[in-house]
Amino acid sequence: MDRLLPKNDTSRKIIHLDMDAFYASVEMRDNPSLANKALIIGQDPRLNNGHGVVATANYVARKFGVHSAMSTMKALKLVPESEVVFLKPNFEKYRSVSSQIHELMYEMTDQVESVALDEAYLDVTQNKLGAYSALELAIRLQKKIFKEVHLNSSFGISYNKFLAKMGSEYAKPFGRTVILPNEAKIFLSQRKISDFPGIGERTQQQLKELGVKNGSDLQKLDTEFLIKKFKKMGYVIAQHAHGIDLNPVVKKRKRK
Ligand SMILES: [Mg+2]
Repeated sequence: MDRLLPKNDTSRKIIHLDMDAFYASVEMRDNPSLANKALIIGQDPRLNNGHGVVATANYVARKFGVHSAMSTMKALKLVPESEVVFLKPNFEKYRSVSSQIHELMYEMTDQVESVALDEAYLDVTQNKLGAYSALELAIRLQKKIFKEVHLNSSFGISYNKFLAKMGSEYAKPFGRTVILPNEAKIFLSQRKISDFPGIGERTQQQLKELGVKNGSDLQKLDTEFLIKKFKKMGYVIAQHAHGIDLNPVVKKRKRK
């Protein structure tokens, strides 16, 4: 192990819960006739002087290549006009569904860090149900959300936030991923650089120029080199490559 890396902590149990295509799923739930359409949450560019971005696309729209943050004009070009439906986001509704979901999380722990309306970290090392298994808790939460809120979600479980997040991304939608301490290095070695949260496009490009395509390549780089090249970010990348993220789950409710 690299002498510059901090000592790992694998004692925590952290769940990253992420709702699947949240805004779009809420609208499909409330209007099932939308389910077979390529549903895009964002203003129709034809009624908005060609302006606007996609807030969320459902999985039908994603099959056409539409994704969040894409311009709605580009999305319109990708999807046949007979298939596409644009809906203005209804944040008041999403916020209220989000607090319903959060109430279910608080039944397990108060150590909840919301990062968006549809995404949160839960530290369940200690939890209100006295459960040993984080997997049991996460499945219970996923089922409860489905039963009471009628929406699908994905989760990742690991000993830190960064791995838990990679886990929830890994098997979306309706995903369940557990990354145990002794599996982390292998799991990471197989991920593309673009799968690593927090590595921006510019850094991705620079890594590509160094011949770094995946986690395995990243694990071979010296921490010292990464720090020289990318400063603070380089130190974070080096830690992530080796499955280290000591950041705590900070109790935080998403601003209303
Ligand atoms: Mg989501």
